[in-house]
Amino acid sequence: MFEYTVHDWPMITGAMRFVKVPLLDLQAQFQQIRSDVLSAIEEVCHDQSFVLGRRVEAFETAIADYLECRYAIGVASGSDALLLSLMAAGVNPGDEVITVPFTFFSTAGGISRLYAVPVFADVRADTLTIDPERIEEKITPRTKAIIPVHLFGQCADMERIMEVADRRGIKVIEDACQSIGASRRGRKAGTFGYSGCFSFFPSKNLGGVGDGGLIVTDDGDLRELLLALRVHGSRSDYHHDHIGLNSRLDALEAAVLRVKLQHLDNWNAKRARNAANYNRLFSEAGLLEHVALPATDPNNVHVFNQYTLRAQKRDELMAYLKEHEIGHKVYYPVPLHLQECYQPLGYSKGDFPVSEQLAQEVLSLPVYPELTDAQMEAVVTRISEFYSGR
Ligand SMILES: *Cc1c(COP(=O)(O)O)cnc(C)c1O
Repeated sequence: MFEYTVHDWPMITGAMRFVKVPLLDLQAQFQQIRSDVLSAIEEVCHDQSFVLGRRVEAFETAIADYLECRYAIGVASGSDALLLSLMAAGVNPGDEVITVPFTFFSTAGGISRLYAVPVFADVRADTLTIDPERIEEKITPRTKAIIPVHLFGQCADMERIMEVADRRGIKVIEDACQSIGASRRGRKAGTFGYSGCFSFFPSKNLGGVGDGGLIVTDDGDLRELLLALRVHGSRSDYHHDHIGLNSRLDALEAAVLRVKLQHLDNWNAKRARNAANYNRLFSEAGLLEHVALPATDPNNVHVFNQYTLRAQKRDELMAYLKEHEIGHKVYYPVPLHLQECYQPLGYSKGDFPVSEQLAQEVLSLPVYPELTDAQMEAVVTRISEFYSGR
């Protein structure tokens, strides 16, 4: 057991010493930046201008700068960023879009919303991103786009994906919702393809005070089209060139996100440091025969939106962690090709063996920036206890 003084760890009880570790502690982050966030909110309330407007524009400029791309377009969510990108790319009913089954639902949901067909390609067992070897065999004359997902905080193999796509004239829409600030060979996630999609859902590395999303591009014409599509396809009030959506970023979100953006690199570095610390602790504890550590492609700077292990006896381990109040979650327990709503696509069990096995084995642990060394030690100690039967 680890020993802490009651002074340091008020949650320790006399009878049973334990450290609670939440999966995510947004309160800890808020307390560090509280006065800046509250003044940003106050300023928006002072303006009484809540949808788009100058604060959204200021944030779009700042984040385009940060992501080293020309344009950023604020939208209502990461899901809408994907949907609007597909709309802009001209994805029509019956078209096919290649993506992975091991991801959050909305990667494929946007494709289906347009009555296009998600065509799945399995992921790599190490990096958990799309296997470039599996893409080419899925391409047909109906393939309009590929959506690689930069899962858990690192980029897919973009050189090989862009090579296949460019050769066939297929557009690449990056789902970078979990990877803001990540990079590959010095280039930021989201800036390789036709467009890059980001989410500001509160649990993402750059989280807002509600839903929000972003599309980035270097193409001025695409930017113009997206600016129209997010306001019902109108370029001037009440004149509609396209059929779009109502999908805009709120001024409150933009103002808060602009404050938080200044901290993003620091927070991402802390997540990476925490991941490295876990890796060391797991190996020192002799646990590598029971858990496989997350693999980082050496070309990538990983920002660890999730620290995700593959664990033996995963479900029993989860029950043990739950009992000892160690936060954890399975991202994702059901691959998309086996989801109820996708039965009409006609896939069956065994079609994507890597994704299916991952769904049985993955376990994400707390890795948020404010996590302390003692908390990480507590997590690894509990996992060690579980496997040693103590
Ligand atoms: C969060 C997320 C989305 C969707 O973002 P929302 O803002 O919640 O709509 C899409 N894809 C992935 C991989 C995500 O993690």
